[in-house]
Amino acid sequence: MTATIIDGKAIGARMLDATSAEAAMLANAGWAPRLVSISVGDVAAAELYVRNQSSNAARAGVAFEARNYAADISLEQLIGVLHGLNADPRVNGIIIQRPLPAHIPVKALQRAVHPLKDVEGMHPASIGNIVYNDMTLGPCTAVAAVEILKSLPLTIEGLDVTVIGHSEIVGKPIAFLMMGLGATVTVCHKMTHQMSMHSRRADAVFVAAGVPGLVRGEMLKPGAALIDIGINRVEGKTVGDANFASCAETAGWITPVPGGVGPVTVAVLMKNAVLATRMQMDHYRDAFAAAE
Ligand code: NAD
Repeated sequence: MTATIIDGKAIGARMLDATSAEAAMLANAGWAPRLVSISVGDVAAAELYVRNQSSNAARAGVAFEARNYAADISLEQLIGVLHGLNADPRVNGIIIQRPLPAHIPVKALQRAVHPLKDVEGMHPASIGNIVYNDMTLGPCTAVAAVEILKSLPLTIEGLDVTVIGHSEIVGKPIAFLMMGLGATVTVCHKMTHQMSMHSRRADAVFVAAGVPGLVRGEMLKPGAALIDIGINRVEGKTVGDANFASCAETAGWITPVPGGVGPVTVAVLMKNAVLATRMQMDHYRDAFAAAE
């Protein structure tokens, strides 16, 4: 094996430390950051994520409240709940846990979260801001994947990057974030012909397709960085989208699954919670100043 295995837990832990210092400053100013997590119906499906977010929040000095709603709650009622949270200055961020029951479209809920409380970075306004290089509340997974690449000793300007997967919340934002940093970006997806032609040219490959074993070592340029965002269950084990053994033979750096992008993603969520709290504090102060 030649690749250095990227320690996502260590990167996440550094981010959490910086975030907890910020959270303490906000708490001193009377703005202790507080998140509310919304689960609907089958609570068990998201339980592991919620527990993980809750323990990371505790570590970052962010209060965390998990709320569960019955599976038969209507979309209108849930949107009403979100409007209440949007208006409550004691709530600084809202997390919508997935999966949701079939009658609750996730996009409708994401749109109903106030952009200043959009800690997951999934409101259309947050996604759109990325096009303008404003990454304040970016989608957590995409930001985490880019932060990992930035932690490597590579010059991002001019770097040839291939992104495999072009979903709204992962692949596309990664492509825009990397363009914003000066990389030359190629985006591949399900319809791409000869994906390996694009991946083999790249100094860094991001893969977020949800297809275990999609990227193999021979599809990479020797020494390239491989950031594997996929989370798949195969024979009771969690694996990414890369065939880890063969990719680790060719790549220069590789993220493991689990232990790569995941811990950085939750750290970005906490960082966003603190940023959102600061933005809300400034927003209320500006509003009061204008009223006086
Ligand atoms: P998605 O299903 O919305 O999008 C998948 C993308 O991959 C699409 O653009 C599709 O065209 C492309 N794709 C599918 N099969 C392909 C193939 N054979 N070749 C090339 N491209 C192909 O998925 P998503 O929400 O973007 O998630 C992608 C993966 O990332 C999933 O495994 C998901 O579990 C994981 N994920 C991880 C985190 C994290 O924190 N690490 C967060 C979100 C999603």
